[in-house]
Amino acid sequence: MKEIKVAPIKNGTVIDHISCGTAFKVLKILGITDANVDSTVSVLIHVPSKKTEWKDMVKVEDKELEPIEVDKISLIAPDATINIIRNYEVVEKKRVELPDVAIGILECGNPNCVTNAKEPVKTEFVLKSKSPIRLSCSYCGRELEDIVDHII
Ligand SMILES: [Zn+2]
Repeated sequence: MKEIKVAPIKNGTVIDHISCGTAFKVLKILGITDANVDSTVSVLIHVPSKKTEWKDMVKVEDKELEPIEVDKISLIAPDATINIIRNYEVVEKKRVELPDVAIGILECGNPNCVTNAKEPVKTEFVLKSKSPIRLSCSYCGRELEDIVDHII
């Protein structure tokens, strides 16, 4: 298999080992839409990977992710790795980790939940299972059904 050459970036973040088909969800989490881009973003879809055969990758120049963004990515791409690039060098490489408790990053699907009642309450979800990912609301107990649609 021919190695794919990807132009290196000078500064920024490479999100690697995103499961195939998930790159656009990662862009959504990062708030990157066609109307709202302030850095150069490269998206690679269906890249050959030794680990899982195929993967997606997202490269965002001149941006390092906030911990809250990394937590959100872990919910939809639990095998992703985050590489921080400074001056063309990888200065940090880490795998995302699913938080045991996700605070303030998901909204509850239960319309009667106190977190949906305009109260100043941060949502809180407890991780029940990692594979498949299952989370339930700490306030009303309802399990989250479609995680991607409920990321704030
Ligand atoms: Zn709830």
